[in-house]
Amino acid sequence: MRDATCSAPASLLRLCACAACRPALAPRRPQSTKKKKGIMSLDRFFKRVGTNVESSSSTNKGLKIDLNDLPWDPFERKPISSYHPSQKDEIRRAYLLKGPCQPTMSVYPQTLYTNKFRKFNPEWYTQQHGNWLEYSVKADKVYCLYCYLFRESGQNDAFGYEGVRCWNKVKRFDVHVGDCNSFHNKSLKKGSDLLKEAQSIHVAFDKQTEKQKKEYRIRLGISVKVARGLLNGGLPFRGHDESDKSIYRGHFIEFLKLMGEINEEIGNVILNNAPGNSQMTAPSIQKEICNCFAEEVLKKIFEELGDDVFSILVDESRDISKKEQMAVVLRFVDKLGFVKERFIGLVHVMETTTISLKSAIDELFARYGLSFDRIRGQGYDGASNMSGEFNGLKALILKENSSAYFVHCFAHQLQLVVSDH
Ligand SMILES: [Zn+2]
Repeated sequence: MRDATCSAPASLLRLCACAACRPALAPRRPQSTKKKKGIMSLDRFFKRVGTNVESSSSTNKGLKIDLNDLPWDPFERKPISSYHPSQKDEIRRAYLLKGPCQPTMSVYPQTLYTNKFRKFNPEWYTQQHGNWLEYSVKADKVYCLYCYLFRESGQNDAFGYEGVRCWNKVKRFDVHVGDCNSFHNKSLKKGSDLLKEAQSIHVAFDKQTEKQKKEYRIRLGISVKVARGLLNGGLPFRGHDESDKSIYRGHFIEFLKLMGEINEEIGNVILNNAPGNSQMTAPSIQKEICNCFAEEVLKKIFEELGDDVFSILVDESRDISKKEQMAVVLRFVDKLGFVKERFIGLVHVMETTTISLKSAIDELFARYGLSFDRIRGQGYDGASNMSGEFNGLKALILKENSSAYFVHCFAHQLQLVVSDH
């Protein structure tokens, strides 16, 4: 396992500084990159034609991993969280089939513990902890295979992550195993479940016949088309009574029914002809589809805006359920020189204080990658929380960017004039 060029005697393995003998000085496993909050989009449902999945190199998504070439020494392994979610179980299964990394050496490095040298004992492999115990030759530490494989983010047990050198305190192995509800024992259970092929998600998925998959796609496609039609017309989706007995079950379901009546192939797989848990008509599904469309529309708006400067128009109001809502509009000049005003969303705010409104705008800007430096104008009504000279939203934004000139909204001014007379 050592560098062929290293001439240090085996007993000095730990003191030798050559690359192979002293890899413990090398950087630890790469930290898992924080998961970017996924923007909901129609891509979740449909594979786009002509997109090359493998070209997305920012993550390891789509990169093929050679399961026979996974790092064997626990010290050299990447955290499981750094692999793409679709590959994790495959990698876990490959490691489980290989079993714990338990190399045997003629001589083990020694570590000094209060006047006594101690070293790793290979007999531990055959004792009660042998099913999970792993030894890294490179780091001279022990690891736990199961805790490594099923480690969750934020779970920092040393056996699953950075390894332990405790040759003088073997009881730490027992402490690591813990009681029946310990993380280690839960990981063991997950490992044995994963190896049971019948419970594998791939098997469950493969069990779905091509016919079922086709029917699901038809149902989803129709729900998306109906949602698009309703959104285009600005029509409500839901009805007051959506039960089977209702004479009108809301636009969404009624339009679906209509589609089913027109096309028999569709009618045979939607609503009551679909499995109860996959009708694609639940309110949450309707909302999810709408959110996907909203994201697509916003993507287009931000493409139109590009890296250019813009103004913001903000107004707040209570909705029918007395929740404070803030409407945000961007005003900008597009690439052809036309002035565009684009509504980018209603933001729910807990209260209408200046700080609360500002933090809601901060959050919105962060979400869409906008910067306060790009603001060249701001327009609000005359309320003190918005247009106040010292503590209004206007003043707070001006503090960040002095080019964000304020204009009292003309429509609000007109309304003041009209209501005065
Ligand atoms: Zn463990």
